[in-house]
Amino acid sequence: MPEHWSPYAAELIETAKKIVTPGKGILAADESTGTIGKRFSSIQVENNEANRTAYRELLFSTPGIEEFISGVITFEETLFAKTTDGKKQLCDLLREKGIIVGIKTDKGTTPLPGTDGETATLGLDGLLERSKKYYEAGARFAKWRAVLKIDPATGCPSQQAITENAHTLARYGAISQMAGLVPIIEPEVLMDGSHTIEQAAAAQERVLAAVYKAIQDQNLLLEGTLLKPAMTTPGAEHKPAATPAEIAFYTVRTLSRTVPPAVPGIVFLSGGQSEIEATQNLAAINNVKNVSRPWALSFSYGRALQQSCLKAWSGNPANVAAAQEAFLKRCRANGQAQLGKLVDADGASQESLYVKDYKY
Ligand code: 13P
Repeated sequence: MPEHWSPYAAELIETAKKIVTPGKGILAADESTGTIGKRFSSIQVENNEANRTAYRELLFSTPGIEEFISGVITFEETLFAKTTDGKKQLCDLLREKGIIVGIKTDKGTTPLPGTDGETATLGLDGLLERSKKYYEAGARFAKWRAVLKIDPATGCPSQQAITENAHTLARYGAISQMAGLVPIIEPEVLMDGSHTIEQAAAAQERVLAAVYKAIQDQNLLLEGTLLKPAMTTPGAEHKPAATPAEIAFYTVRTLSRTVPPAVPGIVFLSGGQSEIEATQNLAAINNVKNVSRPWALSFSYGRALQQSCLKAWSGNPANVAAAQEAFLKRCRANGQAQLGKLVDADGASQESLYVKDYKY
C-alpha cells in the first residue's frame, strides 16, 4: 500500500496508469447541457434529454472504440442516464468494453473581481459528497476545468488568476482523491488572441509551476493524477500559424520545465484545433527528440473527436452507422498518434473548431 492519506491510494495509481495505456486516450463527452445545445444547433437537432442520450449512446456503442479509448468523461446527466431502450445504465456500454468512466465535477466559471475578465471555477462546495456519489455510480476519475487567458497588453494571465486557479485545482484534486476519483487537473490556457508561441510558452510555464506548487502544498498523490493542458500554440489570430513540429517542441519543453516525472500522463485538450491538426500535433509531440518526456502524452479530446461524427449523424437514426464509422476513424487516428505514428487524414475535418471564449 503506498504511503498516502487517501484510502484509495493504490487504486488511484492503477486507474491513472490504465487511462494512459499506450495507444489509447480519453473521449471528452462531458459537454454541459448548454454546450451540447450549441453543438446540436449546428446540425439542427433539438437539445432535449432524448436527443442527448441518443447521441451519447451512438458514441458509447461504437464497435471497436475500446482499442483506442481508455476513458470517457461524462456530464452528470449521462452518468445517471439509462440507455434509450431503458434496459441498462448508459455508462454500462462503456464499462462492458473495459472503458473507465469519468465525470466533470466543476460547475463552470465565474468572473474574478478585480481582474480584466479573468475567471475562477465553481464547484468546491459539497464536492466531497458529490464525488462519493459519483464513485458509487461507477465513476473512477474526475475532470475540473480552470480557464486562463493570455493578453500581453493587460498582463493576463494575472498572478491573481493564476493563484486562485492553482489553489482551486489542487483543492479539487485532493477532494477527488479522498473519494477515490483520479483528478484530471485541467488548467486550460486559451488560444484566444494574437500572441506568439513564445508568449504562450511563458504563460503556461507560470501557470503550471503554480499548479504543481499548490498540488504539493495540498499533499496530492502525484502518481494518482493526470494533467490536461492545452498544447503550446501561438494565439488563434497570430499569423503565421505554427507547424506541428514547432508546436510539439514548445509543448514538450514547457511540460518538461514544470510537470514532475511522477505524473503518469498528460492528456491534451483539443481547444479549438481542427480534427486533423489535433491528430498531427499529437503525433509530432510523440516524436520530439532531445527534450525529456517521462510521462505518457495522449489525448482527451472533445471537439476534435466528435466533429465529423456529429455532422454525419445530424440527428437522423438512419445515419448512426456512418456517424460511428467517422467517430472510430478519429479514435484510431489519435490512438496511432499517441504512438507517434502519422496517420492518413482519412475523413478528418480540416474545419477550425475554434470558438472565442469557449464555454465547456
Ligand atoms: P476540447 O477537446 O473540445 O477542447 O474539449 C476538451 C475538454 O474536456 C475541455 O474541458
